[in-house]
Amino acid sequence: MNLSDQLCETARNQPEKTAYIFEDRETSYEELERSVRQFAAQLQALGYKKGDHIALILGNSPHFIIGLYGALRIGAIVIPVNPLYTPHEITYILQNGNVKLLLTMDLLVKKMDAIIEKLPHLEHVIICETRSDAAFSRKSDKMKSFTKVMRNTSGEFIPPETKKEDVALILYTSGTTGKPKGAMLTHKNLFSNAKDTADYLQISGHDRVIAALPMFHVFCLTVSLNAPLMNGGTVLILPKFSPQESFRLAKKFKATIFAGVPTMYNYLLQSGKGSKDDLASIRLCISGGAAMPIALLENFEKAFDVIVSEGYGLSEASPVTCFNPLDRPRKPGSIGTNIMHVENKVVDEFGEELPPGEVGELVVKGPNVMKGYYKMPEETASTIIDGWLHTGDMARMDDEGYFYIVDRKKDMILVGGYNVYPREVEEVLFSHPQIAEAAVIGVPDSNSGEAVQAFVVSNDVEMTEDEVLMYCGSHLAKYKIPTHIVFLEEIPKNTTGKILRRSLREAVNAR
Ligand code: AMP
Repeated sequence: MNLSDQLCETARNQPEKTAYIFEDRETSYEELERSVRQFAAQLQALGYKKGDHIALILGNSPHFIIGLYGALRIGAIVIPVNPLYTPHEITYILQNGNVKLLLTMDLLVKKMDAIIEKLPHLEHVIICETRSDAAFSRKSDKMKSFTKVMRNTSGEFIPPETKKEDVALILYTSGTTGKPKGAMLTHKNLFSNAKDTADYLQISGHDRVIAALPMFHVFCLTVSLNAPLMNGGTVLILPKFSPQESFRLAKKFKATIFAGVPTMYNYLLQSGKGSKDDLASIRLCISGGAAMPIALLENFEKAFDVIVSEGYGLSEASPVTCFNPLDRPRKPGSIGTNIMHVENKVVDEFGEELPPGEVGELVVKGPNVMKGYYKMPEETASTIIDGWLHTGDMARMDDEGYFYIVDRKKDMILVGGYNVYPREVEEVLFSHPQIAEAAVIGVPDSNSGEAVQAFVVSNDVEMTEDEVLMYCGSHLAKYKIPTHIVFLEEIPKNTTGKILRRSLREAVNAR
């Protein structure tokens, strides 16, 4: 059940097969396994052991894969962190997560310098060199060079005994609301979800998956890294997402799978940089992380002649719970049906299952459900009830077992006693041919309690508020029509494509 041990097995069975491609250079499973083993040995030589917490603050790179699998090999607990976080956010996670060793990169040395002093329990910071001329100025004695650490061959590697219920990863959830919480995922959680997702989407050794999503996020970790690597597939590492590079990689290395959040599909489509020919080898485009607007899904499929399958997941479920199937019809707007071994159901406020068609909270049960939140027993108890993980997402199921996410429970807007879910209004705005992006929030209103406020990014500089309101009027019930439209150049989103409604609310309050 240890993904890293599985990698060792794959490397034994097919040593010459390409495990990943980075900067157009292919690395075999044998080479990857050698690096992982070496890193694991050096971790042990530095005194690290099973249960120690190791953070990765890295961009998409081979270092991330070696760091992840090397740490898992010694039974350490990995905490991946978004490199774009501010020093304040990073400090919180490293403190709360009791991190002893940090693996990061030369480009972030300055940021780390400011943090190290605040973390007395941090023993080492290993800096990965991303440029050949990289000479980072070391302020702290705790800093070591990754290249030098790896050159040191003295360490003998002693495999620890890991159990399936041991924690393997702590994921600090994206924190679009409140303080981030650390979801503890066990070896069993990670292994089963990578395997069940791979089986459901038929990911095999023939697949070449573009890792365009950030590796620190669980969507990329499970779908674009663990699932292909456990099956002997190839990961095409994209250091930073760009439409041009995505099309180039897909064509040059005959990628078969692309996994991304809806914003990425929007960028790919709007960029005008690619053609059907570039994606000719792609057998499946996977969308998740946020709602895929139906208009975008259909336009993308038509433009590139590909299949887009939308799925759903959350950090606490390692993450995948649902996907549109490959062997049955896909339903645009739906997150699909249960993947293997995972049950989803829609419940009312008392936890009672609701019949098809009714909207309630989506709850999930399966081998993928986290052990709990790190150091937060109360939050754990209110999130996992009788073995069911409460997702905080409102959903409905149709007669054929397909689920539809209505919206986040917390984002619901109450207009004069009526429920309005931002997603429904956003779908309508998005279906307007000149609207490139849209977001909706609730704002206080003296008459109706709350009112709907919309933000749009338009491709047409001449577009007026009245035009948008008229369009909404012909598609939405009166109480759902925004009272006001704000034109923006960009909708604030986090790195995994989720709309930062908090920033929009702050902007409204600041006016
Ligand atoms: P994270 O823990 O960062 O992976 O975020 C999980 C959250 O992303 C879920 O609780 C949902 O609110 C949202 N999400 C993921 N996939 C989808 C989807 N296909 N449609 C709508 N929301 C989604």
